[in-house]
Amino acid sequence: MTITLLHHTPLEVCSHAIRTCWQSFDKSDDGGEKDQALIDRVVNKYKHASTIEHLVYSFYVQGVSRALLQELARHRIASPSVKSTRYTLKELKDAQAFAEDDYDAANRFIVLTGNTLVDTASIKALNNLQSILKKGISNDIAKFCLPESYKTELTWTINARSLQNFIALRSDKSALWEIRDMAYKLYETLPQTHQYLFEKSLYPK
Ligand SMILES: Cc1cc2nc3c(=O)[nH]c(=O)nc-3n(C[C@H](O)[C@H](O)[C@H](O)COP(=O)(O)OP(=O)(O)OC[C@H]3O[C@@H](n4cnc5c(N)ncnc54)[C@H](O)[C@@H]3O)c2cc1C
Repeated sequence: MTITLLHHTPLEVCSHAIRTCWQSFDKSDDGGEKDQALIDRVVNKYKHASTIEHLVYSFYVQGVSRALLQELARHRIASPSVKSTRYTLKELKDAQAFAEDDYDAANRFIVLTGNTLVDTASIKALNNLQSILKKGISNDIAKFCLPESYKTELTWTINARSLQNFIALRSDKSALWEIRDMAYKLYETLPQTHQYLFEKSLYPK
């Protein structure tokens, strides 16, 4: 999995929002230590959490499974734009067939678990799907036999309040390993000056 931060809102937009309530703009240090402490106090201590909804992050998330995707889609306060299997299965149709133990080649299309039985079953599913595509069956019908391990990617936009909730739920040890990995990677991809907002949400590895 690769996660790239495409865009983020500067912290001073959030401190400006908070200072709007008190009209205390003259006390701002343009997103510096004073503003950062203010955000922490208002959001995390006073629970005036709607103010961090002004902070928005857009990530490019690549190489995750459709198993992860269906869990990610449950997070309603976020916007995903997902690579469509309806439009992109040609890349699988045009690929070489996969030897059942050629995990390196198959890894282009599926997320591997490290379990030989499971990964071999995924490669078989990939070969089955490919032979169906080569017979001219349309993507809209063929996609119904995709394995859950099939890789996808998305641009994902989420505000800081919802990201705190996501990181708290999905870094927890009860979360699925792949989405747990994603929660940690998201945190690591954030600008360093923003990470303190999410530290308390992060379950220890
Ligand atoms: C370990 C784990 C196991 C899970 N197992 C299952 C499972 O077996 N089956 C299953 O179906 N799901 C399962 N889920 C998914 C879970 O039920 C949530 O759908 C998912 O975690 C999204 O959380 P959320 O609703 O807080 O996030 P979001 O949808 O992003 O919502 C964010 C917050 O907005 C508020 N909110 C959003 N919509 C509403 C609403 N309609 N009414 C009131 N408040 C709202 C809530 O405060 C919510 O916390 C699991 C999640 C985890 C972490």
